[in-house]
Amino acid sequence: MNDLMRRIGGSIFVTPVIAVGIAVALLIASFSLAVQNERLNRAEKVRQVTVQANILAGSVAAPLFFDDDAAAKEYVSALRANPDVEAAGAYGAAGRLAAGFSRTAPLPPANAVGAPLFVGGDLIVTAPVMQDGKTIGSVYLRTATETFPRRALRYLGIALIMTMASLLVAVLGASFASVSRAHRALQLETAGREKAEEALRQSQKMEAMGQLTGGVAHDFNNLLMVASSGLDLMQRTTDPARRERLQAGIRQAIERGASLTQQLLAFSRRSPLNPEVLDLPSRMEGMHALLDRSLREDVFVDIKAEPGLWRVEVDPSQFEVAVLNISLNARDAMPKGGAIVIRMENLPVDAGRSGDMVRVSITDTGVGVPAEMIPRLFEPFFTTKDVGQGTGLGLSQVYGFARASGGEVTVDSVVGKGTTVSLLLPRSLKSIAVEPAPRAAVVDNASRRRRLLVVEDDDAVADLVTEMLDELGYDAVRAPTASGALDTLGADSRFDLVFSDMVMPGEMGGLDLAREIGRRRPDLPIILTTGYSAAAAAVQAEGLRLLVKPYRIDALAEELQAALPRE
Ligand code: ADP
Ligand code: MG
Repeated sequence: MNDLMRRIGGSIFVTPVIAVGIAVALLIASFSLAVQNERLNRAEKVRQVTVQANILAGSVAAPLFFDDDAAAKEYVSALRANPDVEAAGAYGAAGRLAAGFSRTAPLPPANAVGAPLFVGGDLIVTAPVMQDGKTIGSVYLRTATETFPRRALRYLGIALIMTMASLLVAVLGASFASVSRAHRALQLETAGREKAEEALRQSQKMEAMGQLTGGVAHDFNNLLMVASSGLDLMQRTTDPARRERLQAGIRQAIERGASLTQQLLAFSRRSPLNPEVLDLPSRMEGMHALLDRSLREDVFVDIKAEPGLWRVEVDPSQFEVAVLNISLNARDAMPKGGAIVIRMENLPVDAGRSGDMVRVSITDTGVGVPAEMIPRLFEPFFTTKDVGQGTGLGLSQVYGFARASGGEVTVDSVVGKGTTVSLLLPRSLKSIAVEPAPRAAVVDNASRRRRLLVVEDDDAVADLVTEMLDELGYDAVRAPTASGALDTLGADSRFDLVFSDMVMPGEMGGLDLAREIGRRRPDLPIILTTGYSAAAAAVQAEGLRLLVKPYRIDALAEELQAALPRE
């Protein structure tokens, strides 16, 4: 579009330059034509009149020689027949006028032979009269060079060319004006359209935001509801079995909240990827319970794995979230229930693939997706579900996970018959790492209770961390900001470790704090914590200790044990 405008704009400025150039060239040509024409015309006239004068001189030679003025007069008067001849005269020896006539000004009393002469509109030509090699007199001829109408006629052509040139300039000028008007109108229209498009994009964004906040807030609200009412009920009951059930409910709500957060983080590409070599069939078996819990009782899951399935190297929790997201969509597509078949098979390298792949396909017998809608399914916030029912982030997470793992995801669907979503993941030739058995949280049993400085801006999180640290046998002091932490450390040197959040309000973040403490107290251990992968990468790049959020108490205990010197 812009390119086109530039081209039109360019020709707008070129056109009048060419037009003026052509007009000027035409004017110069017509002027030089007129000058040339005039010169040739005069030369021709001089030649004609000179011939006439010579003829006259020849014919009056004998009468002048014999002083026969009557005969001379006859020859001279014959020229009256030519209307162009204004005056003619034959002069004898000693300049005597022998015969002559004049229609306008009288003849000169004496005649001197000389070069042709233009006087006013007349041409005067003189010629000697010779007899036997001697000059015996002269003739005088005055002719009108050209009558005004003939001259005007001659210049009419030039005038015509000039008029046409001016007309051309006028027409080009007018068309230039109209083109530039059209150009301006086009520019205005383009600006208007861009504005409208921007407004549309903005409204789509707002709509997406609305759906996101509507969906996510609704989900979170439910989870918070479960957690807070669960806590209330726990306070009111002493029945251990009931407390156990309530606790399980709260934990489940928190896990769902965490997975929702993970979806949001995956969507914003901030979720840390921790790839592990996986045996998919056993991983999938482990998911059976989770799937059964998440799907309705009228939806059955059938898992089929090809024997000798290759291993893959992907982030296990993101893989599970992806399978869960696809399965939840399959459930939603089958409102009357049905079966979900999860197939795992090896896809050896072929022309269409870069290497060996493992395919995990999840097939439902649901409503299906129209072909033209398939490309949109992976768009973040694209959902056909009601507010509160869908966030439009499920398949966006699946797509993000597949691409980040070096694989891809495809959708095949027949409306009314069902849908197959396939994850293709690259084969890994590495062997599976032996998982260490989960350890119980180890209470610090040093000879004295060690003091930790907790830097955390969020009150609720700070309280929770303080409580966990107390549980693990540490004394915790809290500072709400990085600069506050530096003040506390300056005033009190009896700290054994600093445990700091990374992203905090204020000028100084956790990473800056860690660097500053490193300068002031190089011996003081520091552990940073964050949920953002970008921040996490920065910490790892500096070789600092990092605990990824959210963490469980045993992970916290382990990290602290590793960071603190043995006592
Ligand atoms: P959400 O489930 O929150 O709507 P997703 O990204 O998971 O968001 O899915 C986007 C849309 O894709 C869904 O709203 C639905 O219209 C369509 N879709 C996804 N999977 C299926 C399926 N198995 N059958 C029919 N439609 C599907
Ligand atoms: Mg979904």
